[in-house]
Amino acid sequence: MADTRGAETIARNISILYGNIRKAAERVGREPTAVRLIAATKFVSVDRIRQAIEAGVRIFGENRLQEALPKIEALGSSAGVRWHFIGKLQRRKVKTVVGRFEMIHSVDSVELATEVDRRAAEAGVCQAVLLEVNIGGEQTKAGFTPEGVAEALPTLDAMAHLAVKGLMVMPPPTPEPEGARPYFSRARALATSLARMNLRRIRFGELSMGMSHDYEIAVEEGATMVRVGSAIFGERPNG
Ligand SMILES: *Cc1c(COP(=O)(O)O)cnc(C)c1O
Repeated sequence: MADTRGAETIARNISILYGNIRKAAERVGREPTAVRLIAATKFVSVDRIRQAIEAGVRIFGENRLQEALPKIEALGSSAGVRWHFIGKLQRRKVKTVVGRFEMIHSVDSVELATEVDRRAAEAGVCQAVLLEVNIGGEQTKAGFTPEGVAEALPTLDAMAHLAVKGLMVMPPPTPEPEGARPYFSRARALATSLARMNLRRIRFGELSMGMSHDYEIAVEEGATMVRVGSAIFGERPNG
C-alpha cells in the first residue's frame, strides 16, 4: 500500500533540492541544467523510488549490485529511468554491472578499468565511467591519487570499450559543509589540468561530487552530478 504521507515528503524534499541546486548554480553564474541530480537509493525500497520518479527524478545511484538488481528488475527503464553504479565495485561483479548501468562512478584502478573494458567488449557495448580520485589523500579510501590518475590516462584512453567521462570524488567528512569546498575546488582544478593532456577519446565533462550535506557547495565548485540520498529519503538505518 502506498504511503502518501511519505510520498509528499519525498516530493517536497526533491523540490527543495532542485531549488537549492538552481540557486547554488545561479550564485556562480552556472546553468542550473548543467547539474544532474542522482538520487542515491541504498536501503531505499522500490515503492519509495517510485515516489521519487513521480516527483521527477530519473537517475538513481546504487552502491551494491545485489541490492540494485531487484530494483532494476522492478522499475526497469520505465519513464526514462536510468541507473548509475556509485559504490565500491568488485572485480567479479563487473560482468553483471556492465551494460546494466548507464555510468559507473567508482572506477578506482587501472585493473578495474581493464576488467570493465574487457566485459564491455564481450557485451558489445561501450561503458561510460568516471574515475574515482581520493582527493583527500585518505589512507582508508579507495581511488586514484591525483598523480596516479594522470599516469593512468594514456592506458585508459586506449581502451576501446571504456568511455571515461570525468571524475568522481568523496571528500573526507567535515563537520561544516564549507569544509568540503577546498576538496571540490581541487577536484575541478585536477579535471581542468587532465583535460589539457593530449588524449584521443577521454573527455572531462563530468564531475560527480556533493552529497546531502554539501551538494550546494559542490554545485558552486562545478559539480555536474550530485549524489543525494538522505536529503530526499530521510536518514538511513545506521546513519
Ligand atoms: C550514500 C551515498 C551517497 C549519498 O549520501 P547522502 O549523505 O545520503 O546524501 C552519495 N554517494 C555515495 C557513493 C554514497 O554511497
